[in-house]
Amino acid sequence: MARPKKKDSPAKVETKTFTVKKCPYCYTYVAVKEMRCEACGKKIGVVDSSGWARKIFDWRAYLGAVVAIAIFLTFYWWAFLSE
Ligand SMILES: [Zn+2]
Repeated sequence: MARPKKKDSPAKVETKTFTVKKCPYCYTYVAVKEMRCEACGKKIGVVDSSGWARKIFDWRAYLGAVVAIAIFLTFYWWAFLSE
């Protein structure tokens, strides 16, 4: 049975110096010091060891999704389960 090779643990990866990082949303190269992607306008974090910008957790989007689900469940309950 062939097993996939284990990736190197992140702790072992040396911190490289990058001048550009890749936007995780639109795959455009952005200057490392930029905290917002010029191409898609999204907020991006610091560069990781593979040259990608980290995604910044968007609380508002997360909250919006939770609220939408809550509204849906309430509607579902109201429409089908409340007699
Ligand atoms: Zn982008």
